[in-house]
Amino acid sequence: MDTSKATLTKHTDLTYNVFELTFTTEDPAFEYKAGQFITIKLPQPEGEPLIMRSYSISSKPTKGQFELCIKLIEKGKGSNYLNSLKPGEEIEFIGPVGHFTFKTNPDKRVLLIGTGTGLAPLKSILEEQLPNNPDQKFHLLFGVRHIKDLFYQDDLSALATQHENFTYITTLSQPESEDWVAQGGKEGRVTAYLEKLTPENLQKTNAYICGLKNMVLQVQEMLQQKGLPKEAVYFERFN
Ligand SMILES: Cc1cc2nc3c(=O)[nH]c(=O)nc-3n(C[C@H](O)[C@H](O)[C@H](O)COP(=O)(O)OP(=O)(O)OC[C@H]3O[C@@H](n4cnc5c(N)ncnc54)[C@H](O)[C@@H]3O)c2cc1C
Repeated sequence: MDTSKATLTKHTDLTYNVFELTFTTEDPAFEYKAGQFITIKLPQPEGEPLIMRSYSISSKPTKGQFELCIKLIEKGKGSNYLNSLKPGEEIEFIGPVGHFTFKTNPDKRVLLIGTGTGLAPLKSILEEQLPNNPDQKFHLLFGVRHIKDLFYQDDLSALATQHENFTYITTLSQPESEDWVAQGGKEGRVTAYLEKLTPENLQKTNAYICGLKNMVLQVQEMLQQKGLPKEAVYFERFN
């Protein structure tokens, strides 16, 4: 197996269970497309079976560097190994690979839908594509469960300030806070927002969905029922 190496340069906690890792690759020419992922080899004692975990790159394509945004899963081998890494430590990985990349089509609006760390590849796509496509409308629908699960809100707000063609909604399925709703925060699952879309809203749209399987399947089905052709819906499933 042809693997590459990268060194952790920064570990940032984004919430109580989501963290961001910044790596510098051993090969300074390492490149990736927004939306792609890498597959990390977990260190194992001699003779033990190989364990690999895939992670979408969350940063804007930058030579020799990449960021990951990872949810810590209780007793999860991959996420706990990555969370334990200290700056200076190395990972071994294969990639980048993946077809969840931006499809250039200036005539189409772009609808991005992500839940939890499913935001990772969408953030990479937005950061790369917004400066290149000032006349194309981009809308992101981002969902998490609780206020304590929110992350990358400042980054999204900055993108919306810098790019008039970008709007986004962050919605909490269980806000458990009157303040959130009182301050105009959105409540409900991402599917509740999609419910309101009409086939007219979805005309000339390319949709990008990323997150856990159930959400992706549900959203795919809803978009198709509302008339969006299968070929206009791109997705990445984390499980
Ligand atoms: C192409 C691809 C890209 C991925 N990109 C990311 C990414 O950018 N960030 C990320 O956090 N994960 C990502 N994943 C998921 C990741 O590969 C692991 O499955 C995840 O980290 C759990 O691995 P683990 O060994 O810690 O736990 P395991 O014991 O292997 O998994 C435990 C459970 O966690 C669930 N799970 C997996 N991912 C998530 C998640 N993000 N949120 C909630 N539950 C989850 C699984 O369904 C499983 O039931 C990606 C998966 C794929 C296939």
